[in-house]
Amino acid sequence: MRDDDKPSSAPPRPARHRAARAAAVLAAACLTAAGCGGDGGPGQARPHPGGAASASSSRPASPGPSAKPSAGGPSPAPTSGGPLPRGPLTGTTVVIDPGHNTRNREHTREISGQVDIGTGRKECDTTGTATESGYAEAEFTLDVARRLRTLLEGRGAKVVLTQDGDRPFGPCVDERARIGNEARADAVVSVHADGAAAGDRGFHVILPAAVRAGGADTARIVAPSRDLGERIAGHFVRATGSSPSNYVGGRTGLDTREDLGGLNLSTVPKVFVECGNMRDPKDAALLMSADWRQRAALGIAEGVGSYLKR
Ligand code: ZN
Repeated sequence: MRDDDKPSSAPPRPARHRAARAAAVLAAACLTAAGCGGDGGPGQARPHPGGAASASSSRPASPGPSAKPSAGGPSPAPTSGGPLPRGPLTGTTVVIDPGHNTRNREHTREISGQVDIGTGRKECDTTGTATESGYAEAEFTLDVARRLRTLLEGRGAKVVLTQDGDRPFGPCVDERARIGNEARADAVVSVHADGAAAGDRGFHVILPAAVRAGGADTARIVAPSRDLGERIAGHFVRATGSSPSNYVGGRTGLDTREDLGGLNLSTVPKVFVECGNMRDPKDAALLMSADWRQRAALGIAEGVGSYLKR
C-alpha cells in the first residue's frame, strides 16, 4: 500500500536515521542479490497473508541448523529441552508465528469460519500458497520458525510458537494474536512466503497500520513494530542476499497493512515477514533450499536480537 516507508535495512542500532541509510542499503542489496534486476510492476499483490497467529507451544527447539540443500527436506523437529542458555536475549520473550498450518487443507470448513479482526471479519485462517512443485507455504513457515526458535533460544530468549505442527488446523488469526499478547511478548514475528505472480520477487516485511476499530487498537505498537520490521529487513538482506520485493513496498522491503487480524489485534510489537514469492521459480528454488531457509532464519533472528537489545 503505502510507499512512504523507508527502506529499512539498516543496521540495527540507532533506530534513527534509517531513512538515509536506506538507499545505501538497497544499493548494497542489489550488489549481492540475485534478484535486483527484476522489476515487476508496482504491483499490487495483496496476496495472501492469511494468518496471523496462535496456538501455543513453546519448546525448546531444535536442530534446525543443519542445512542441506534439500527441497522441503525434513524440517527441524522439536527436541526436548533443557534450561535455556544465558545470553544476550535472556529475560526476553519472543513469539514466533508460523503462518498457516500444513493440515488446514483438510479442515476447510473450520478455517473458513469468520473471526473478528477489529476492522471487520475475516477467515479464521487460510491454507497458504505453495510452489509449482507442491512445496507448501505452511511447511516452509514451520521449518523457518523452528530454525528461528533454535537461534533465539541459543541467545537466551524464551520462545513460544503459535503452532508447532501440533494442531489439526489454524490457529485462527485472532488466536494467533492473542498468544503473543498473553505471552507479553517483547516481539512477535509471523513467518510467511507470498503467492504473487511469477516475476514478482523478493521479500517484504509487513507492519501494522494505525488501526482503532472494534477490538483493535494498534496505537501503541505501530512505532515499535516499525523499528522491529526495519531491523529485520536490514538483517534479512545481509543474511540472505535477497532483494526487497520488486512488487510491493516500493522496493523498501516494507509494507503497511490494516487488513491483517494478526497485526490489528496485537498489543505487542509484531510484524509479518514474507520471505519470498513461492510462485516465482527463482524465489521458489531459494525457499525450497534448507540452506537458504537457515539464512532466512538467521536474518530474522539478527533483526529481532538487534531490536531487543536496542
Ligand atoms: Zn502466508
